[in-house]
Amino acid sequence: MKVLIVDDEFIAQELLKGFLESYDAIWNVAINGIEAVEAFQLALAQRDPYDLILLDIMMPQMDGHQALREIRRIEAEEGIGGTDMVKIAMVTALSDAKNVMEAFVKGSCGAYLTKPVYPEQLHRVLLDFGLVDEK
Ligand SMILES: [Mg+2]
Repeated sequence: MKVLIVDDEFIAQELLKGFLESYDAIWNVAINGIEAVEAFQLALAQRDPYDLILLDIMMPQMDGHQALREIRRIEAEEGIGGTDMVKIAMVTALSDAKNVMEAFVKGSCGAYLTKPVYPEQLHRVLLDFGLVDEK
C-alpha cells in the first residue's frame, strides 16, 4: 500500500513510519496541508494514487481540515467518487467531538487516530479500510 504521512512534527512522522515498516507499505511525508495536496495531485497525475492518507489536523499554513476539503474537492472535479476516493484518517491530539465531527461530516474522512498513536490503533484503521487482512 502507498501511504502519505502528513504531519508538521518530525517525531510524529518518524513514529508513523516506524509502524508502517511492519507492513508491505511505501510512504511519502508531507509537512503541511499544502504539501499534502501537492503530493496527492502528483500521485493522481502519475496514475499511482495513495491508498491511505494519515492527515494531522494542527499544522501551519494549511491545516488538516482544509487539506481534507481540498483533496475531496479535487476528487469531485476529477470525477473520482465512491470507493475510488482516497482513504483518509485524521490524526489528532484534538480528540474533542467538534474536530472529529467536522472532519467526518464536512470532509468525509473515514477514520481518525488520536495522538499518541499506537500500532494497534493504526492496525485497526488499516483493517477497517480493508488495506490489510485480519491475521
Ligand atoms: Mg501538528
